[in-house]
Amino acid sequence: MKIIVQKFGGTSVSTKEKRKKVIDKIKKAKEHGYDIVVVVSAMGRKGDAYSTDSLLSLIDKETINNNKRITDMLMCCGEIISSTVVSSELIQEGIEAVPLTGGQAGIITDDEYSNASIIEVHKEKIISILEKGKVPVVAGFQGITEDGLFTTIGRGGSDTSASLIGAALSAERIEIYTDVDGIMTADPRIVQNAEVINVLNYDEVFQLADHGAKVIHPRAVEIAKNSNIPLYIKNTMNDSEGTIINNISKEKNKRIITSITSTNGRIQVIINREDNIDNVEYNNTLDIIADNNISLDLINIFPEKLVFTIEEYDKEKLKDIFDNLKIKYSIKENCSKIALIGSGMRGIPGVMAKIYKALSYKNIEVLQTADSHMTIWCLISTNDLKIAINALHSAFVTN
Ligand code: ADP
Ligand code: MG
Repeated sequence: MKIIVQKFGGTSVSTKEKRKKVIDKIKKAKEHGYDIVVVVSAMGRKGDAYSTDSLLSLIDKETINNNKRITDMLMCCGEIISSTVVSSELIQEGIEAVPLTGGQAGIITDDEYSNASIIEVHKEKIISILEKGKVPVVAGFQGITEDGLFTTIGRGGSDTSASLIGAALSAERIEIYTDVDGIMTADPRIVQNAEVINVLNYDEVFQLADHGAKVIHPRAVEIAKNSNIPLYIKNTMNDSEGTIINNISKEKNKRIITSITSTNGRIQVIINREDNIDNVEYNNTLDIIADNNISLDLINIFPEKLVFTIEEYDKEKLKDIFDNLKIKYSIKENCSKIALIGSGMRGIPGVMAKIYKALSYKNIEVLQTADSHMTIWCLISTNDLKIAINALHSAFVTN
């Protein structure tokens, strides 16, 4: 069997007109002799009738926060509706389609509702459908516990569903169809002249996804990498080439920086030794934070101070802990972390200097930096984000 998994995101299945394009993609791949497994997200985005957000608005916030099992079961409906609608339209077009919930497709998870981990994927049901020449249309983003209860596997989870199924079936490739022409040098909503990147390696895309680029979920990249199955990112609405993600030699990418992404909602915390000179807890600060399950990022330790960032939602918790221990600190809210990614940056001198220059030229203050072998991070004020990303994009990509 030559299998392709095709995943269609929320906007791709949002209207009948768009679903016609979806059906064209499935038809075309079938005509080329492939067996196709389709994975779908819930239809549309916020405001659309059957999107995940609209379904969640049916129940109260307290239930959403406290009863993850009910919330998961409700959210699963979005993808189930989508799989039945796409199946019925495929059948109308003469393609025998079989809608499946995640559980029916064999995706077994633990019971960590809202962010369940995959235990195993039973491929038999999908294989038997394919053997009959039919097209399974799987509800993405969901699985089932060993006790038969519905679970969801975290936001962006339909990408992960596609990779899981692709890996279980040893698919020839996994195609992620979305509303952009592929993976771009930056989010086109932020940088108008962002360009499509035709070939990338798994590690670069993982970094990109893990640091905010919503176009694909990092877990999906990881799973495809582990099975060495190429991932394609393509636009549902046209026939552009898209992005191929595989194990290509890292040296083939010519640019030092291949893409730029960012995450918001960071808070910078500074604790000066001098302000805490009589406080024995100062030296235990990092332990105390870890013991309270607050995750830290961008940690810089200097003789005279500690500087790190936390997520916005940990702010009150951190304040309570520090106030109780009488640790004096200052915070800077509304920060964003920009990540510049490129496997070609290793050993190239002057990259940080160029970043610093591009930002200071726009009067943007760099609050903190960090780097690894293929990523450089800069913390800046969120107010400066758009200008900063565009300045960096001009310096490294479109120059
Ligand atoms: P889907 O519903 O198809 O899963 P998503 O909204 O999850 O679509 O992902 C597609 C979006 O990702 C694009 O509309 C784009 O704004 C955003 N995006 C962020 N970073 C990038 C990038 N580097 N390349 C392409 N798209 C990006
Ligand atoms: Mg997505």
